[in-house]
Amino acid sequence: MSFRMDAFAAKTLQTVEDFRDAGLVAPELVPALNAVAARYVAAVPPILQTAIAETGRDGPIARQFVPSPAELTVAPDERGDPIGDAAHSPIKGIVHRYPDRVLLMPTHVCAVYCRFCFRREAVGPDAGILSAPELDAAVAYIARTPAVWEVILTGGDPLVLSSRRLGDIVRRLDAIPHVRVLRVHTRVPVAAPERIDSMLIDTLRASTKAVYVAIHCNHPAELTGEAVAACARLADAGLSLLSQSVLLKGVNDSVDTLEQLMRTLVSARVKPYYLHHLDLAPGTSHFRVPVEEGQALMRALRTRVSGLALPTYVLDIPGGFGKVPIGPTYIEPAAHSYAVDDRTGVRHVYPPVPE
Ligand SMILES: *Cc1c(COP(=O)(O)O)cnc(C)c1O
Ligand code: SF4
Repeated sequence: MSFRMDAFAAKTLQTVEDFRDAGLVAPELVPALNAVAARYVAAVPPILQTAIAETGRDGPIARQFVPSPAELTVAPDERGDPIGDAAHSPIKGIVHRYPDRVLLMPTHVCAVYCRFCFRREAVGPDAGILSAPELDAAVAYIARTPAVWEVILTGGDPLVLSSRRLGDIVRRLDAIPHVRVLRVHTRVPVAAPERIDSMLIDTLRASTKAVYVAIHCNHPAELTGEAVAACARLADAGLSLLSQSVLLKGVNDSVDTLEQLMRTLVSARVKPYYLHHLDLAPGTSHFRVPVEEGQALMRALRTRVSGLALPTYVLDIPGGFGKVPIGPTYIEPAAHSYAVDDRTGVRHVYPPVPE
């Protein structure tokens, strides 16, 4: 490894100079990276710097978090709001696309900024947190909308909020009887596992709702000992753990990596929930994997691992039309029957319902 481990202080790398001084970007890239920095915020906390040191400057962890000049290339189909959040936002801080569930985004701050983020035009410390009146209005929207059964805290990363602020939100949602499920989408267990402390856990455990924590994680090297221990603390507290991963070229687009990722998650008591096909966020084409390849990877994964370790491969249809599974499929209609492939690819006949 040619870069200087001793440059990794116990501080979050944020500026182009930080990345250069840590030996993570070549000095000649600095001008291009200043252009990237003018558009998209960056932050790599200490634990992920360690993961980068272990997997290499061009490895799967660096690729996810260290800014790259490739981000300046915007492909024709890419857009600032790739999944159409704006079209379904009835009020600031809420996205209500499916009748029975809403996103509540109390903050746009994250513990780490992913270079492929689908909300990269919206996240960052400058985008800040909802003001007190804005949060009041968002909670009031949920309270007056009885169809909302599940509230998904996302952002940004809701677990960067102080336990006091998070506790305030949890208590207010607790007071809404029609809300039965609280889901927290977070990268904190991976990016800042020390934040999963007893105060934060008590805050989540105090909820009277069923609480699920969905952890964003894309590569097994993100699941450091500290991250696994943070998952254990959450699971020991009775919280149900799910994972979400994004299929990313050069990060996890191999069946070996996906297998190791999913096995590591399940061993840490985290149920893989979704494998996302990459959204069309600007400057992310260097991460894009064709759908056919994603389907082939899922097919290969199914030959290797237990159903517990299989996420659903989903696409969020651009324009706000929602998520759908995108295969692979194993069955299709045939003459007076169905043709069904087993997981090794051998075709079988399955009978129709008798007339
Ligand atoms: C992804 C998403 C959800 C949650 O969807 P599930 O498929 O139930 O996990 C809810 N609302 C919005 C706007 C979403 O993008
Ligand atoms: S943690 Fe989530 S919201 Fe934050 S930058 Fe990464 S993908 Fe985007």
